[in-house]
Amino acid sequence: MIELPEAAVLAEQINETVVGNRIKNVIAAHTPHKLAWYFGDPQEYKGLLTGKVISRATSYGGQVEITAGKAKLVFSDGVNLRYYNKGAQLPAKHQLLLEFDDGSSLVGWVQMYGGLSAFPDGKNDNKYYLIAKEGPSPLSIDFDEDYFKSLFDGGTAKLSLKAFLATEQRTPGLGNGVLQDILFNAKMHPKKRAGTLSATDQQVLFGSIKNTLSEMTAKGGRDTESDLLGKPGAYKTKLSKNTVGKPCPICGTLIRKEAYLGGSIYYCATCQKT
Ligand SMILES: [Zn+2]
Repeated sequence: MIELPEAAVLAEQINETVVGNRIKNVIAAHTPHKLAWYFGDPQEYKGLLTGKVISRATSYGGQVEITAGKAKLVFSDGVNLRYYNKGAQLPAKHQLLLEFDDGSSLVGWVQMYGGLSAFPDGKNDNKYYLIAKEGPSPLSIDFDEDYFKSLFDGGTAKLSLKAFLATEQRTPGLGNGVLQDILFNAKMHPKKRAGTLSATDQQVLFGSIKNTLSEMTAKGGRDTESDLLGKPGAYKTKLSKNTVGKPCPICGTLIRKEAYLGGSIYYCATCQKT
């Protein structure tokens, strides 16, 4: 899944490799996928994008936005986004393929679910896009301790930390993947109720969000995800499918996996308190 670190890394890589390229051809919705989400009719993307030059890429929370002339492209959730040089073997299945003048290609395809959108700038009214764009990113200076503490209120007191942090886009780009190490580093269990956190706990959790996401981004994303060139990130996840059943790096207790709120949680039952 593309979450904050991966979105930031992909945007940076696109700025390094794709910017300046002119779009020669577009193939949208090539392989049918029930959980590939588009903005409007994907068959209109070819007309919207052909001939446009990619001028920049940026990220909002867990979304990657590319500017091509007066159009925008946005990729989110479980989209794999890869760049291929001229002559490279392209994946057989994909939902959005941009071919450039120099023969290179940018290809997006969906694993479980994900969004691949192209639209004239200003026309996208998708709720998650707007929240991701307008909400303070956890790595921005607007996401400070006072702002974070303001998220704890009567409405969120009963929520578990997983629900509180990783649903409703309350913290854009903070999804169930990055959540695991954030809570491990804060020594808090994913099922701990938000309302039970003391002021000190809130401070600890705030620090862990900033530090964990900064480290993941600085290292090129998590080792469970791939970058624009198909390489896994260099951030070694402490809690993920890669470490389940292995000893906790702090105390040696075996890392557990459990289904919770529509996704897996991983935790150390000794270090992380409810
Ligand atoms: Zn432990």
